Amino acid sequence: MSWFTRKDKGINTPTEAKREAPDGLWYQCPSCKKVMHTREHRILAYTCSNCGYHEKIGSQEYFELLFDQTRYTELDALMSSGDPLNFVDTKNYPDRLKATEKKTGLKDAVRTAYGKMNELDITVAAMDFNFIGGSMGSVVGEKIARAIDHSLETKSPFLMISRSGGARMMEAGYSLMQMAKTSARLALLDEAGIPYVSLLTDPTTGGVTASYAMLGDFNIAEPGALIGFAGPRVIRETIGKDLPKGFQSAEFVLEHGFLDFIVDRKDLKDKLTSLFKMLS
Ligand SMILES: [Zn+2]
Repeated sequence: MSWFTRKDKGINTPTEAKREAPDGLWYQCPSCKKVMHTREHRILAYTCSNCGYHEKIGSQEYFELLFDQTRYTELDALMSSGDPLNFVDTKNYPDRLKATEKKTGLKDAVRTAYGKMNELDITVAAMDFNFIGGSMGSVVGEKIARAIDHSLETKSPFLMISRSGGARMMEAGYSLMQMAKTSARLALLDEAGIPYVSLLTDPTTGGVTASYAMLGDFNIAEPGALIGFAGPRVIRETIGKDLPKGFQSAEFVLEHGFLDFIVDRKDLKDKLTSLFKMLS
């Protein structure tokens, strides 16, 4: 039967075309492979209805989930990075920034905003991993510092949503300075008695873990998030030993006392509201 034999040799289907579902209508969970409607997925705060897998989302989705009627005012929306070191790797840094801006529609790896969450005034900074791996450069540090200033001025609680590969190598030392800058600002928030909650999402690593992400009055995480300083491969090679099962998952980190609790994203808004009310 010629219907079932491939007569033409060398037919290659590009990976995008191999998907079982077209983009935009159906979502397939990468963990349990269940297929669901994108609308249902969105209603479930981008978690799987079957296994609870938390899809990685960006600042836009978090703002939509948290702010009442998706109403918020963005701070420093147009701030973008310079090139203090004239850095060149496979391309020069300004070209990389321009290409990333065009691809993601973002100006840098964090967006900051204020508005109401269940009628409570809050200031939120949420990171975008799509922008150069959510790396922390001068703009990320400066925007977070200014968002904290906004919290101080308005006496509104501060929420940081981290998702980052760590420091931005194209800014080298300038990137590391952001750790000190943001930490110092958070100390002011602490002195003023304004609550700060840090939410760690998948993944939170490097200089971000070593500064603002771990300085919350409460450090909380999404289920299954990878949380660490150096990645598992680097650690394995350094200590020359196999790592325990589930190493660096939010659940592992919680068990070892680095987190206060893990929150399902569907409950995030209400849990944060009660937490902030309790702390205020
Ligand atoms: Zn699933």
